[in-house]
Amino acid sequence: MIEDGKVVSVNYTLKNDAGELLDSSAPDEPLAYLHGAHNIVPGLERKLTGRKPGDKLEVVVDPGDGYGMRDPRGVQDVPRNAFPPDAPLEVGASFVVETPNGELMQLHVTAIKPGPDGVDLITCDANHPLAGERLHFSVEVVGVREPTDEERTHGHVHGPGGHHH
Ligand code: ZN
Repeated sequence: MIEDGKVVSVNYTLKNDAGELLDSSAPDEPLAYLHGAHNIVPGLERKLTGRKPGDKLEVVVDPGDGYGMRDPRGVQDVPRNAFPPDAPLEVGASFVVETPNGELMQLHVTAIKPGPDGVDLITCDANHPLAGERLHFSVEVVGVREPTDEERTHGHVHGPGGHHH
């Protein structure tokens, strides 16, 4: 049975309100995660507690229990020449920057538009791409096992469907 500390394997698909497929596990490679370690969004993790292999469930997760609400303050237009010349800037790219107080923050390029002085403006968004979305998961539990000591220490799963490092 799924409970905190167990390694859980699931096949899943994720759709938005419009029914568009956003993400899914690869065929023949279920996602493996450590239950209770916040490897997956809280709204889904909670619904999986107590389930067992073979269970199939449909879970709708509100943004607050998913990737959070969109924060408009996370969106900024930055002139192209503020980036290193070789920065791979294109819509859909993401990169990590260090904030003035030393935190690492992932930014996503959501638009590139001409600026008033001929320098392109790069729209950078610190929100998760799925922030503000209601998430529709279709999940099948395929496995539950005990973690290895190393997995327990790292707080995530190693091997197929998990981390490789
Ligand atoms: Zn690890």
